[in-house]
Amino acid sequence: LLDALADQAAVAIERIQLVADVDRAKLAAEADRLRSALLTSISHDLKTPLASILGAAGTLRDYRQALPEEDRTALLATVIDESERLNRFIANLLDMTRIESGAMEPNAALVDVADVVGSALRRAAKITAGHPIETALPDDLPMLRLDPVLFEQVLFNLLDNAAKYAAAGSAIAIRARQDGGEVLVTVTDEGPGLPPTDLERVFDSFYRVRKGDQVRAGTGLGLAICRGFVEAMGGTITAANRTDRSGAVFTIRLPAESQPKPLEPQT
Ligand code: ADP
Repeated sequence: LLDALADQAAVAIERIQLVADVDRAKLAAEADRLRSALLTSISHDLKTPLASILGAAGTLRDYRQALPEEDRTALLATVIDESERLNRFIANLLDMTRIESGAMEPNAALVDVADVVGSALRRAAKITAGHPIETALPDDLPMLRLDPVLFEQVLFNLLDNAAKYAAAGSAIAIRARQDGGEVLVTVTDEGPGLPPTDLERVFDSFYRVRKGDQVRAGTGLGLAICRGFVEAMGGTITAANRTDRSGAVFTIRLPAESQPKPLEPQT
């Protein structure tokens, strides 16, 4: 009986090893596939703006005398815009690398949500121009202890998306409220919203819902960075669709500092 059992055990172990080998091979193949998809995507995101810059700069070099002033200005604007796009993409890649290597060193400070919302709105002003912005920030919100630079970047990315994916002139809202020991900050738009199956996936690096959409230039990194930064600040970020009309809602939850907000000086 013991021999029979030992034989059965040996067969079972062999099977388990076989399955493990197959899984390992599958995992390695999947990692290879992801790596090359990532490289293809990165090369594309670098090459597209570079091609525009080279084209515009070349035309300027060869035809600048013959071109009317407004065409020269337009070509220069292309060089600048596309260089900025490259710059943003590289900054995003560096942010992502920092998040993934765990090299994030957030500088915690006592932060007033309204201040950070204000600076994110100012920084995004050019992008959100034409969109009415509603803010609802109660005076008695608790302070947060976090890195204001990371928090501002998260809000900026969400505002950027709200303006990018919703129609010109549609409203964007930033609201905050206290919920127990947390502060909730939401960014809401009136755009198309997200397919329900993509509500989680949009936070993956390089994931874009509308891949062929060249009009809305993007890298698929903005929300991955948001999630990385929010998690580095000890919070969570989720996406949902509005229930009252079409549009997306991004909700950030951050631990509130128990210390109450300092009173405004009386005037
Ligand atoms: P990017 O905007 O550069 O493509 P993101 O990571 O910021 O990358 O967003 C990932 C994808 O999620 C976008 O490509 C878009 O399809 C979708 N998305 C993000 N924000 C919104 C939004 N406010 N409304 C609709 N779709 C959105």
